[in-house]
Amino acid sequence: MHGVGQARAGRLSSLGITTVADLLWHLPNRYQDFTSTKLIADVVPGEPVTIVGEVISVEDKPTSRDPRLWITIARIRDDSGVAEAVWFTRTKSPKLRPRFSPAPPRGALVYLSGVAERAYGKVSFANPEWEDATRGVEGEPLNTARVVPVYGLTEGLGQKAVRRIVSNALSGYGDEIREVLPFEVLGRYGLPERRWAFLNVHFPSDMASASLARRRLTFEELFLLRLALKWRKSQYKASGTGLKHGPDGQLVAAFMKNLPFALTRAQEKVIREIAGDMEGPTPMARLVQGDVGSGKTVVAAYALVKTVENGYQGAMMAPTEILAEQHLLSLKKLLGPLGISVYLISGSQSQKERQEALTAARSGAAQVVVGTHALIQGDVEFSQLGLAITDEQHRFGVTQRAILAAKGGRPHVLVMSATPIPRTLAMAIYGDLDVSVIDELPPGRIPVETHWVMPSQRPRVYQFVREQVSRGRQAYIVCPLVEESEALSVKAAASEAEILERDVFPDLKVGLLHGRMSSSEKDAVMTDFRDGRIDILISTTVIEVGVDVPNASVMVIEDAERFGLAQLHQLRGRVGRGRHRGYCILVSQAASEVARQRMQVMQRTSDGFEIAEQDLRLRGPGEFFGTRQHGLPDLNVDILPGDLRVLAEAIEAAEGVDIEELGPGRRLEQLGHEISRRFGGMISWTGV
Ligand code: ADP
Ligand code: MG
Repeated sequence: MHGVGQARAGRLSSLGITTVADLLWHLPNRYQDFTSTKLIADVVPGEPVTIVGEVISVEDKPTSRDPRLWITIARIRDDSGVAEAVWFTRTKSPKLRPRFSPAPPRGALVYLSGVAERAYGKVSFANPEWEDATRGVEGEPLNTARVVPVYGLTEGLGQKAVRRIVSNALSGYGDEIREVLPFEVLGRYGLPERRWAFLNVHFPSDMASASLARRRLTFEELFLLRLALKWRKSQYKASGTGLKHGPDGQLVAAFMKNLPFALTRAQEKVIREIAGDMEGPTPMARLVQGDVGSGKTVVAAYALVKTVENGYQGAMMAPTEILAEQHLLSLKKLLGPLGISVYLISGSQSQKERQEALTAARSGAAQVVVGTHALIQGDVEFSQLGLAITDEQHRFGVTQRAILAAKGGRPHVLVMSATPIPRTLAMAIYGDLDVSVIDELPPGRIPVETHWVMPSQRPRVYQFVREQVSRGRQAYIVCPLVEESEALSVKAAASEAEILERDVFPDLKVGLLHGRMSSSEKDAVMTDFRDGRIDILISTTVIEVGVDVPNASVMVIEDAERFGLAQLHQLRGRVGRGRHRGYCILVSQAASEVARQRMQVMQRTSDGFEIAEQDLRLRGPGEFFGTRQHGLPDLNVDILPGDLRVLAEAIEAAEGVDIEELGPGRRLEQLGHEISRRFGGMISWTGV
């Protein structure tokens, strides 16, 4: 980058900044509003303010407490009085004078911005920002007397340096910033032009301009992302298919007849939508959303049977070993009687089993293959893959689902998720898929009874657990999530298990399950729990997805406020799956108002969609965009709680764009280029 030295370039690149565009997209985290300029006599303590004055003295000395910490005091005078400014500087060795003075030189005319204190009638500023007030030629101040941007920083790069570099980039390259949004979109949503937005997001003339600029750039990101997903879908659909299946035949009829229950209306509706896709001219790319326990497995089984009936193989990928094995069992039950062969490919199976499954997949002898991530490894090949299903999509990324699909020609793709998300978000995140919703639970389900209690009530909670166990039930105790590290979560769970086993439930059988155990260890524990050899299972969130132990009736969740609502809902779905009423006990101090509201939402409703809406309202949409969660590319802006409206608008605007128009020589070619530049990797993938 022009005008940036090598050392700085290195530090910038550690922030992910290697081009001018990266630099312009390095948006401030916040601003300090120093636009209010006052006479020293009028300065109000506690308010950000700017004064203009002459430096009349500067002195520095080591502080008396720490000889390496220097204090610099400057006195500044204007027509109304004198103010003091104080800076602290740490030096390498004691008594060594700092190499640079943080203060302006004596005699200088400066702007000084900061928050003042007033003691004994004296106005003083701690660590204020200052700038030369005489150098009109070099342009406006960047650090004082204005709305000042505050950036996320890296070691060795100060705010002043970043402001200078960004300002240089804007004056050097600002004229090259081209509009990418269609003119009519700008007009309809009252958005400012792009160049203005970049200037004002970094150096706004006032706070309102800053927020308008940020809104425009957030809109742009979400609009482009939505279009990229839409584009990707249209390419997949346009690629044609050799897999136009016929109407349901005898095998499907036998499957329907064999079902151990009557399908719910919602299941029937989704099955019809899937049939429509699979019999249609373009490959299916469909997301099935359905709350925990809504019966997605049988819907997937239908699609598998239809695939087999038409002479193809089906694959179903699950995020954990436990879940993959559970699917193996359910599918064997549903498909076995029809003579359909079901195989498992997982990381924990023996070499021999794995070889057998691989051979069967390759030869076509395996009509259905269930597995974990192991399914998308290089050595897994299919003879004729016609359907690729991913279960619990939120645990996989877009890429992983594409790799599975790429193991076939143009297979139908079905994605299943038990994490319901509001419609606008679904379009932003799963915009490349059609969406079906199973919005009904099988009859006879009793909702889980949820209670929120304070940590001080733990003894009563344990008493309740004990009662349930004495009635022959089993319990889960979920340990607090330690966000920063899995290792810490595991440690917390292990010590919790030890304490509970020794002091609280010495007479009961207590087991421990966490993510650092090997698959076979986990399996052994889960089997013991399923078969009743463990009464109380202490666990990290590894049990979140899909585990099915009908006899478990209580779940205690420690530090519940640390979990997302959707995650709590998933966890809670592990109990009350059998004939017995399920109880979920949320243990939480819930110190903040938002935390309290979230606990109350969990108590009030068991509707996954409502919970998702509330989660969105309380935490904002940002959480949903993590790459880790959905495999989406990183966005250049952080999506904030207040961004719901701009999200909805960006999606609405993208709906109005005809993908055809993005192609070369067409009206929106420029926009098409920008989408490829930003999200090209995603569009060029062959699979969905
Ligand atoms: P999820 O949507 O969470 O994956 P599952 O497919 O695991 O749900 O189904 C949960 C339970 O409900 C299973 O035991 C399944 O056999 C049962 N089930 C599914 N559909 C029905 C139905 N229509 N009537 C009764 N029970 C059903
Ligand atoms: Mg499931």
